[in-house]
Amino acid sequence: MLAQAAAKLGLQCHVFSSEADACSFQVVQRTTLADFSDQAALEQFARDCDVITYEFENVPAAAAAFLAKRKAVLPDPGVLATTQDRLIEKNFVRNLKIATAPYAPVDDLAQLVAALAKIGTPAVLKTRRFGYDGKGQVKIRKPSEAAAAWQAVGEAPSILEGFVDFECEVSVIAARTGDGQVACFDVTENEHRNHILKISRAPARIPAALLAEAPRIAKRIAKAFDYVGVLGIEMFVVRRNRTPVLMVNEIAPRVHNSGHWTLDGATVSQFEQHIRAIAGWPLAKPVRIGRATMVNLIGAEVDDYARSLKVPGASVHLYGKGEGRPGRKMGHVTTIVVK
Ligand code: AMP
Repeated sequence: MLAQAAAKLGLQCHVFSSEADACSFQVVQRTTLADFSDQAALEQFARDCDVITYEFENVPAAAAAFLAKRKAVLPDPGVLATTQDRLIEKNFVRNLKIATAPYAPVDDLAQLVAALAKIGTPAVLKTRRFGYDGKGQVKIRKPSEAAAAWQAVGEAPSILEGFVDFECEVSVIAARTGDGQVACFDVTENEHRNHILKISRAPARIPAALLAEAPRIAKRIAKAFDYVGVLGIEMFVVRRNRTPVLMVNEIAPRVHNSGHWTLDGATVSQFEQHIRAIAGWPLAKPVRIGRATMVNLIGAEVDDYARSLKVPGASVHLYGKGEGRPGRKMGHVTTIVVK
């Protein structure tokens, strides 16, 4: 989708992937299939590009640093060091005086027992690295489950988070340029099933004060990173003494699934905003053109795509990923209601 947005602006992409079936290979002419540790391949790739970006946060830090010595890599790979580690990320957010769930680092079972005593139950134990869509996460309902939970995360360095009894989950997709311009899309409300995003709705049905506060939080985070490109910030809406407030759950240093509705529901997509930002171009001012609902097609749900094709007004996106393994995001369908 980034490559398609670049093509719309007359820019060409060269995609580097370590996976032979990378779906972006289907839409660009210049491709490199190589491991992220292959320095000769990285070197050649850097030579062929004017600017380099990434669209998933687990790009090995060493590969990003190698490329950054040769060409501009945006957003700066330093952002990865923060967002690849849940503890560093949470500390970063807390240092900005932005609310998060209560949390504590856990490096061994004794620390987990102590953290449970401090934070209480229910709680969620999450590995610090390589967790997404609920992977590397386990809910702890009572303190006696500590040892089993520690085993379940493979005894990997983790954090314990207090379980947040949220009213809903929302996200902000923000774009920022090198000279500090920021443009946010309307706050999106997200519904997860089995920890995987299932439905995004824009605008979020939350109080006006929070609709204004969420982009302010996103801007503070983007500024603190001196971020260039698009980032997604996931937040919980929590009721505190009857007043709803926002807590940041996670920062995604990339275009985000909850922003896919912008392809059909806004005058500019998150993908185009990202390309504009990294190309050093001005951002567009996004205008939402209706009430948007995006539904992910997960695993075998994609087999039923023909039904979505028949829905009046629905826009169907299929990613060309091949096999619809359980839990894999295979496509999405967006509907826009214009009043
Ligand atoms: P994450 O990988 O941190 O984005 O978590 C995936 C999903 O798990 C979130 O979108 C929430 O639905 C749920 N979740 C994660 N952390 C918490 C928490 N501390 N309290 C309640 N639910 C959570």
